[in-house]
Amino acid sequence: MSVAREQAHLPHRPADDSLPAMAGETTENSGPELRGVAGYESPYPYLDRLQEKMEERLAHRVPVQGRFCGYCYGRLQAATLICGFCGASTADIATVNEIPQEVLRLYKRKANTEAKWVHTGAFAGMILASAIFIWMVIWAPGFLGHPALAFAVLLLGGYFLAQLFGPIIFAQTGYRRGAKARDEGWAKWLEQRDGPGRSGNATGA
Ligand SMILES: [Zn+2]
Repeated sequence: MSVAREQAHLPHRPADDSLPAMAGETTENSGPELRGVAGYESPYPYLDRLQEKMEERLAHRVPVQGRFCGYCYGRLQAATLICGFCGASTADIATVNEIPQEVLRLYKRKANTEAKWVHTGAFAGMILASAIFIWMVIWAPGFLGHPALAFAVLLLGGYFLAQLFGPIIFAQTGYRRGAKARDEGWAKWLEQRDGPGRSGNATGA
């Protein structure tokens, strides 16, 4: 069953080709697009666009230091004047050299929540396949009770159900809950940083 577990990766890999290429950015994208599909539309769309970047930063796949948007902390190229993530102007809001730890923690919690739901779903799928296997071996009549068929159901059914419950069904709940918590944390962060009433959006600030 290790195949199914390896496949149960994080499904949320938004591909956004409209953004300017960032230094050190990876272009690999895989898995289904969950934004909007999962029934939750983030009030801060740039957080969704930044999630993958922040996960790369959390995994230390990109340098800690750099030139970051002072509003959303997206990594900017040296010559960039308008943030490609949130639209803030570097003339209005000075860039920073590092992403605050508190902000990184918001993204980490989102990733963890989603991963937890995906793994729980994959596990539930494998349990269900095991239950069907046991039923077939013990109670199924005639050909259905053949051990070879039951074993094929265990392997293929286990793989299929782990995929179905993990990255497809449970991942949506994980995305919804994780993104909601992240966005609420971000709203609090904005209020702390910019003061109440100024936490609308970057361009209006
Ligand atoms: Zn920005």
